[in-house]
Parts: sequence; structure tokens; C-alpha cells
Amino acid sequence: MNGKNAWLFSILIWSGVFLFLVGCASDQTLIPRDRTTKVDLSNPAVSDGFDFPLPGYFPTGNRFLERNVRSLGCPLSYHPGEDVAGPLGSAIYACSNGTVVFAEYQNEFSGYIVILEHAAPPGIRFKLPGGKTAEKVWSAYYHMSGIDPQNVGLNRIVKRGQRIGYMGDFPHGSGKGIHLHFEIRKVNLWEGSAYISAGKKEHSICKKPEEWITDHFVCPSDFIRMNRSR
Ligand SMILES: [Zn+2]
Repeated sequence: MNGKNAWLFSILIWSGVFLFLVGCASDQTLIPRDRTTKVDLSNPAVSDGFDFPLPGYFPTGNRFLERNVRSLGCPLSYHPGEDVAGPLGSAIYACSNGTVVFAEYQNEFSGYIVILEHAAPPGIRFKLPGGKTAEKVWSAYYHMSGIDPQNVGLNRIVKRGQRIGYMGDFPHGSGKGIHLHFEIRKVNLWEGSAYISAGKKEHSICKKPEEWITDHFVCPSDFIRMNRSR
């Protein structure tokens, strides 16, 4: 190795060490950043990281676990997700690769709802707040004015960043304004159903204790920051 090559080689090594240290210092090491890592991503429903479902995502309405969210006479003791305001009709994107497990108009309160199931790559687990991990999580998008029929259908696979729907004006007349209600769930709640459904009391989230919410949901912003691959 001549002098120039040795110099380039040492720069390469030190860049590697630097990137390694940066990776360890951050909270984002659970999902591999580079695709050379031996992780099978051939199943398209396997997640390779998470993004916020809207550009400029910032919780502007009810925050995670915020109390006394009233709707349709149901006092939600603790808000299970985050509300993000935006212009009517704004595109909403899949936060990660996943399988559509729910995609329907629900009611005047919820509007259109999409729920995606996200599987961690084999040998990898998603990082949850509190030092816990999970093999699967579910993302839920509420109050949409419509679903993108090109990308979304029951049991279909959507890719991270694909448009799934549009921000709607639900619940009508609530005074909460146009917003997306976004959740990350740790369990597939009531498979085939969303959680607020008139006449289905067992599906109701009303008056559940705080521990019940934290057992089933995580703060979306926290989760996404902990599980991004870029
Ligand atoms: Zn909400």
C-alpha cells in the first residue's frame, strides 16, 4: 500500500468508527440502517423503519394520554394517539411497510379508518418506550375523508411512504378542526374492527384506566423516533 492509499484507507477506517459511534449514541439502532446487514426484507410487509404519516408532522391537538377527550357522549379518559391538524384533503402516507388489516368508513365520528400491521424483520424487534420490544405493531389513521383505492384494500401490502388516504373533517361539528388521529398500537385490538363503534360497548375505549391505554398503545412520536432507519 503506497502512502496515498494508506492515507485513504485510514480515512475510511475512521469514518467507519465515527459512523459506528454515532449509531450507538442515537436511539435508532434497532432497525439496521444499511441494507448489507443480513436481514431478510424479501417479505414486502416487513418494516424497514418508520416515518411520520404527514410531512411536517407535529401533534397540534390532543396529545398522547391527554385526558377528558369527549366525543359522541363517550368520555375518553386518556387519548390513545396524537392529533395532527392540516388542510382538508392533505395526503396521508403509510408510516411503514405493512399489511392492511382494516380499511373502511366507520361513522360520523371516525370517518374513514385505515389500520396497518407492521412486522419487524426476522431477528429484529421494534423498540418500545420503557425498554420493551415487540415483533409487531399496528398503525391506525382516523378521521380520513377517503381511502386511496390504488394502494389500499383489505389484506393488501402497502409500502412505507405510499399514500393511503386524505385528511378529513371528522367528527363533524366537534370544534376540533380538521385533523388526523394517529395511533401506534402494541396489539391488534378487536381484529377486523376499529375501537369506537356505536352499539359495540365491548369495543369501546371509554373510561379505560391509564394503564390499559399504555398496555395497548404507545406514543406515536416516541415510537417513530425510536424506530427510524433514516
Ligand atoms: Zn384523536
